[in-house]
Amino acid sequence: MRGFSSLRARLIGLVTIILIGGFLATNILSYQNSRDTLLAEVLNYQLPLSSNNIYSEIQADLLQPIVISSLMAHDTFVQDWALEGEKDPEKMIRYLKEIQKKYEVFTDYFISNQTLNYYHPSGISRKIEPSTLEDNWFVRVRDMSEPYEVNVDYNVEEGGAITIFINYRVLDARGNFLGVTGVGLGLESVARLVKEYQENFHRRIYFVDNGGNVTVRSDEEKIGERIQDMPGLKDIAPELLGMDHGSLTYERNGEPVLLTVRYIPELNWRVLVELDEGDITEAIEAVFLRNLVIGLFVIILTILLIAYTISIFQRQLEKMAVTDKLTGLGNRQAFDISMIQAISRFKRTKEPFSLILMDVDKFKPINDTKGHLAGDIAICQIALKARSLLRDSDVMCRWGGDEFAIIMANCSVEDARRLAEKIRLDIVEHCFFPDDPSLRISISFGVSEIRKDDEEATILARSDGALYSAKDKGRNRTETA
Ligand code: GH3
Ligand code: MG
Repeated sequence: MRGFSSLRARLIGLVTIILIGGFLATNILSYQNSRDTLLAEVLNYQLPLSSNNIYSEIQADLLQPIVISSLMAHDTFVQDWALEGEKDPEKMIRYLKEIQKKYEVFTDYFISNQTLNYYHPSGISRKIEPSTLEDNWFVRVRDMSEPYEVNVDYNVEEGGAITIFINYRVLDARGNFLGVTGVGLGLESVARLVKEYQENFHRRIYFVDNGGNVTVRSDEEKIGERIQDMPGLKDIAPELLGMDHGSLTYERNGEPVLLTVRYIPELNWRVLVELDEGDITEAIEAVFLRNLVIGLFVIILTILLIAYTISIFQRQLEKMAVTDKLTGLGNRQAFDISMIQAISRFKRTKEPFSLILMDVDKFKPINDTKGHLAGDIAICQIALKARSLLRDSDVMCRWGGDEFAIIMANCSVEDARRLAEKIRLDIVEHCFFPDDPSLRISISFGVSEIRKDDEEATILARSDGALYSAKDKGRNRTETA
């Protein structure tokens, strides 16, 4: 049975490995598959879609000021007033006030190329000095070929607030440069817009100019940082700044990040939309873990069930191996085990026991006349009757054929002989065949008690000799030895 136990352990081990291995392999593969599909979907469709949406929104929101600036630059009043020598400054100031009120812009202005006066809704604030760092943007706008530029700058007039200026060149009918007009937008409103997108789209969004400087992002503190200096991004910054649009991945602090870039030609900026891979995979990781827990739970249950079933079969087999099928008594193998135990107990405790061998008399003719089936039933009834007269501590086995052995625990040969007689009379008085009441069954008994130097074979031989003697003396009797 030890061999069987190790076979069982090996079988269960193998089944566990196959189940867990198969389960893990399919789950990990399917997790990787859905993760790859999801990441590709986010990188190739969702993020580009976000940047497109943001681009459209930004266009709609930022281009209105460009249109206003364009209107101002092409306004004949502005052109004529400048050409006619800026005679009545109040007219320009009133004009700027009205534009500011009508379009609800943060600020608007006109700077004359002729006088370098900075006209503002609240008056002429000052004369600009193009040679200074603060004002040299004017030279840039004057000399550029595009009609306008978008510039992020500190507005000295507004106490140093960060503002996006749409600087529009004002030209006369012949194309002579008259000055610069435009509107300013408080950067906070754009940052708020980006923050709103960020919250709605759950992505990090920021805008960078051609030099890689962050111009707008949700937390204004970072404005002015360069992507060339940002961890992770610095490695791909040159590539990013050369791209019109595209998707790529990079690592920041060991965490993979998915990023799309889109160029906004109107602003000469790029919008970067990025998302941590962890945020994308979080949900499927949770599903993966849940599946893992449920699957392992099911596997453990299955294995327990298999182990339980095998042990039931094992017990069944063990029982079958020592049980006589016809009578349900122990068989010869069980007898051997009980005998070894009884002898070793006797050697330990010196408590005597007796062995009864009993054999049905002339059973062959009964079989022949009543049939084998009736013979079987008779053997069962004999076993049942004899067993019912024994104590729980006594062991009765079917020795073979019509022969039984009884180990009488804590019992002298005399007591055993008395019990054998009791069984003998009980059987002989019983009517086994109601259709033939005169046909009786008798049994012969051979009894002996354990002796000091006995082994299984010697005590067996004595009981067997006594049984032979009982047969010899005419059967249906008990002999001791
Ligand atoms: P005796 O013991 O008195 O010498 O005569 P016997 O006819 O009983 O002879 P023996 O014990 O040697 O033979 C046993 C017979 O019991 C032989 C066989 O026909 C019968 N027998 C043995 N096992 C079974 C069994 O499982 N079922 C049935 N129906 N008969 C059995
Ligand atoms: Mg017999």
